[in-house]
Amino acid sequence: MTAVPPYPEPIEVRHEKGARRLVVTWDDGHVSTYPLDYLRSWCPCAGCQGHSPTARYLEMTGQELAHLEPVGNYALAPTWEDGHNTGIYSFRYLRGLCPCDECGGERR
Ligand SMILES: [Zn+2]
Ligand SMILES: [Zn+2]
Repeated sequence: MTAVPPYPEPIEVRHEKGARRLVVTWDDGHVSTYPLDYLRSWCPCAGCQGHSPTARYLEMTGQELAHLEPVGNYALAPTWEDGHNTGIYSFRYLRGLCPCDECGGERR
């Protein structure tokens, strides 16, 4: 019997300002690269998602990340340059958004 491994957690989160993307290295060795527009467009907060039963892609462009704050040990909370900061991206949610081919590509 092997224990079910815990869900992957980030060991490094890097904001590449020039490339306008966030690069997350996970503890299982996977590396996820999120364009900022893509990340912002999947903002999970109620204000962005409304009461829709399924997640909505918002098609945001020109998004800049002002600040990134860890929430406990389970999530990241970005503050965007327009002041929006209510989106809490749990590690599980974030990993599910990984746009690499191996994970199934960009969702929208
Ligand atoms: Zn939001
Ligand atoms: Zn991936």
